Amino acid sequence: MVATAFVSGATGFIAQHVIKQLLEKGYSVVGSVRSESKGENLKKNFATDKFSYEIVEDLETVGAFDTALKKHPEVTIFVHTASPVTFDAEDNEKDIILPAINGTVNVLKAIKATAPQIDKVVITSSVASQLTYSNPSARVSEDTWNDITYEQAKESGSGAYLGSKTFAEKAGIEFVKKEKPHFTISTVHPVFVFGPQVFDSEAKGKLNASNGYISRLLKLKEGSLPEFSATFIDVRDVAAAHLIEIEKPSNGLRVLVKNEAFSSQSLLDIINKNFPELGLIKGEPGAPVNYDRITDDAKSREYLGLDYISIEQSVVDTVKQYIAANK
Ligand code: NAP
Repeated sequence: MVATAFVSGATGFIAQHVIKQLLEKGYSVVGSVRSESKGENLKKNFATDKFSYEIVEDLETVGAFDTALKKHPEVTIFVHTASPVTFDAEDNEKDIILPAINGTVNVLKAIKATAPQIDKVVITSSVASQLTYSNPSARVSEDTWNDITYEQAKESGSGAYLGSKTFAEKAGIEFVKKEKPHFTISTVHPVFVFGPQVFDSEAKGKLNASNGYISRLLKLKEGSLPEFSATFIDVRDVAAAHLIEIEKPSNGLRVLVKNEAFSSQSLLDIINKNFPELGLIKGEPGAPVNYDRITDDAKSREYLGLDYISIEQSVVDTVKQYIAANK
């Protein structure tokens, strides 16, 4: 018998790929969504009785997940992906930091109180909790922790996101240390994620924060290119990493999921090569990617054993879907 997994934030870009891969492997999935219309849309798209949803309106409400979990004694795995993914909020603490921390704690409290049969919790963290805020070029690995303080995190949207992932993960570890629950927690740490949506209809209009970077480049018919560089991973590989963590637990490795580095120029070069008809600016074609932060993911690569999707494939799939959906 294959198990049932609960996936929080089921409407999310990454969550939908996790759900797709779970369903493909025969799992049943219960997803949490913020409204009935979002749940019905997902149900229609996944089009299988093996997917159902529960409404959890607000991650921060005390006991938010209790009712949903009580209704599903068949769930034995919890994948917690829901968290604010934005660098732009009216109130950094209220809109980004607190929902991330309180959401994680509420999930863990609910499982401890209401779901003794759940033995495995996989949390979607981020490389954000492994970077060093005080030294942007410091080495990053499975063992490094972001040193950002709460006060620094409140100062900007990007700081708030970095802090939200760091503090939420720490809150999870603290919970386990203190409460000694019946389940284990593990974390998956993607870098900047690109890739197509599971469903073409989801590529219409505004994309999620990370793919939004690509859709903004697609509007650059004149003007200059914003400078940006980071490391990339495709969403399908991120989802695969979650499934591996579920099926072959890493026992404490903070799994860093990372492929190659990119810059705005290297993305633009891929788009111009594959979609010349878009007539985008050229920038400085072929300019080398200037990204000097050493990101050492050797342990995670060995553990996952995945043959990662290339950035060219990922960007082409993303752009193709976006153009078709927004004709
Ligand atoms: P996404 O598409 O924006 O999905 C975020 C999910 O969280 C959505 O289901 C959203 O619900 C839910 N959510 C956000 N704030 C919430 C709140 N206050 N209460 C309840 N639900 C809330 O983002 P994503 O890119 O898939 O990210 C998913 C996870 O991966 C996050 O934990 C993120 O930090 C992590 N991650 C993402 C990247 C990346 O580059 N995309 C990289 C590293 C880590 P609605 O749909 O209703 O808004």
